[in-house]
Amino acid sequence: MTDLMTDKHGRTMRKLRVSLLDACNFRCTYCMPASATFSKIHDLLMPDEIGLIVSNLTKLGIEEVRLTGGEPTLRAELVEITERLSELPLKSLGLTTNGLLLKKFLPELKKTNLKSLNISLDSVNRDNFKALARFDGLVEVVDAIDAAIEAGFKVKINTVLMKQNLSELDGLLEFARTRGIEIRFLELMKIGVALETFEETFIPAAQIIHQLRNQHKMKQVAVSVDSTAFKYQLDNGLQVGFIASESMPFCGSCSRLRLDSKGSLRSCLMQENKLNLRGLSFDEYPSVVKQVISLKPYDRIEKLEQPMYQIGG
Ligand code: SAM
Ligand code: SF4
Repeated sequence: MTDLMTDKHGRTMRKLRVSLLDACNFRCTYCMPASATFSKIHDLLMPDEIGLIVSNLTKLGIEEVRLTGGEPTLRAELVEITERLSELPLKSLGLTTNGLLLKKFLPELKKTNLKSLNISLDSVNRDNFKALARFDGLVEVVDAIDAAIEAGFKVKINTVLMKQNLSELDGLLEFARTRGIEIRFLELMKIGVALETFEETFIPAAQIIHQLRNQHKMKQVAVSVDSTAFKYQLDNGLQVGFIASESMPFCGSCSRLRLDSKGSLRSCLMQENKLNLRGLSFDEYPSVVKQVISLKPYDRIEKLEQPMYQIGG
């Protein structure tokens, strides 16, 4: 089915982000307004619908799935959804989370095929964490990271490095190094509320790399051609990734589709046009999916007013 999944630029769609809901228990200043409103729970895809849609997309060529949101650990059915997806022939199943409620799910998740946990951590300083997330959750998040490592998950830290937490670069690197896990620095994207402060707060990946080169010997690590991140190994053994969506966009090799929490499929985070898959029979999938893929931008769309948490980050 790769013909159907391959667009006119030769990009083959094989990765899927699945948003489980738009709600969150944090209010990260660059992601959400302080008073956000969320979808009603009964409007969201149910676990059996998520299982069916992802199964159908798997038949068309999707190989890797990552659950996200909003905050996916707020879905009471997280384990049930993960169990359903674990029955599919996926090469990889992962979860992106802020970590606050993660720990209690770990024993059940460990029994599924979900192996990869990307945990967001923008600060290792309690006050700064609280200011950025608008929630005093550092202790719980660190506890969950340590428990996930201990349980044998493949854990990566995702950090949006901005003016507000640039001074924490060394502390964040040390946090990851002492735990033997990879840290990835995401550039702030021109999406949603981040548009309001982007110019004052944005830090390009090149600036961080320059700072790291002054302190370390670094060698580039090979990544897959459709990886959104590029990676370095530091002389202290730490692996550091960069997702430079703004300064070095990777649209030309992007292989990702996105399913939102109500069943609409998008070709790109920045592409507002989407098509519904909820309630469709499998026969209807090829034409809808093909249409969605034809909407995938080849050049980076500059900005998006709609916030990331509503689409699935
Ligand atoms: N709530 C979960 C979390 O925070 O990991 C999953 C959803 S969140 C939208 C996914 C990722 O998107 C997080 O790592 C977050 O830091 C990032 N993110 C949100 N808004 C962003 C923005 N404007 N630019 C760059 N990354 C952003
Ligand atoms: Fe919530 Fe994640 Fe957005 Fe922070 S980045 S407000 S944790 S959805």
